[in-house]
Amino acid sequence: ESIVGKIAAGEVVERPASVVKELIENSIDAGANSISVYIKKSGIAEIKVIDDGEGIASEDVLTAFQRHATSKIKDDRDLIRISSLGFRGEALYSIAQVSKIKIITQHITENTGTETYFVAGSLKWQKPAVTRGTTIEVSELFFNTPVRRKFLKSPYTEKAHIIETFQNYCLAYPEISFSLFIDDEEILNIPETDSIYKRIWQVFGVELAENLKIKTISKDDYRVELFLGDGLKGKSKVFLNRRPVKEQSIVGNICKAFQLMQPQFIVFITVPPEEADFNVHPAKTQVRFCNPQKIHQLIFRMAEAEPSSLSS
Ligand code: ADP
Ligand code: MG
Repeated sequence: ESIVGKIAAGEVVERPASVVKELIENSIDAGANSISVYIKKSGIAEIKVIDDGEGIASEDVLTAFQRHATSKIKDDRDLIRISSLGFRGEALYSIAQVSKIKIITQHITENTGTETYFVAGSLKWQKPAVTRGTTIEVSELFFNTPVRRKFLKSPYTEKAHIIETFQNYCLAYPEISFSLFIDDEEILNIPETDSIYKRIWQVFGVELAENLKIKTISKDDYRVELFLGDGLKGKSKVFLNRRPVKEQSIVGNICKAFQLMQPQFIVFITVPPEEADFNVHPAKTQVRFCNPQKIHQLIFRMAEAEPSSLSS
């Protein structure tokens, strides 16, 4: 195992929830209709993600675990005009460096798939297997990086991060069915649905959903869809082109525009793909906009449209 590999892993795999994020993103990119996540011991013992996506061809499995071996950048233009969630080809490589991984996968065009096992990034064995979609099982995360393991927060906190990550992708992809099991307990199991509003209902329950205020505004190729409610008190979730992002300026402006003492909303922002650059950090939660003013103007215009009803 290499030092370089461990350093690369550190940028992508900060904690168990980062693994959950990357595996779910890969399943979404593979066109899955259904994604199931199984967690044992707050993700340290096991993180398993099962999807029904297109799978990986036998001859491509080993390549998928090499650094920068993504299938998702075809040319330079794709770097900005990216619509898939991955693109650096760093996730599987990095996760493999700091865990033991079993992958069972079969490409839709093949009659037989493969089952492959890696320990700390090195191939242990591979054999034929028949399956549908892809199952990836990550066990003993950080077994070879004791310092990183020591700096994890309490199991309660790591579990909370996993649940939040999982919920984020549920919210952004209502057309996919999701289930989450933690230590054999079913945490969430939701069928596909046809709107974000219904998905919020599925994830957070009837009471929260029924008390939401929904505001939308669009101009040119920009769109802002805001769900505000007391039930979300203290929470702010920002999605940009269906990616959960950390954008304090957007959070701050929504609070200001709607005169909120504290955040209590979920917002979905859509901008033309070439105007948002996620290529800032491997974790892809930061974004650079070409035109941040445009989003901020829309937020304030949305608030002005109905000023009194939302200042509770
Ligand atoms: P990236 O997503 O940036 O391309 P990853 O390391 O996350 O890089 O994945 C490497 C490659 O492995 C992907 O480009 C994809 O071709 C393949 N892959 C990974 N996970 C899956 C999956 N669940 N289903 C199908 N293909 C997958
Ligand atoms: Mg990926």
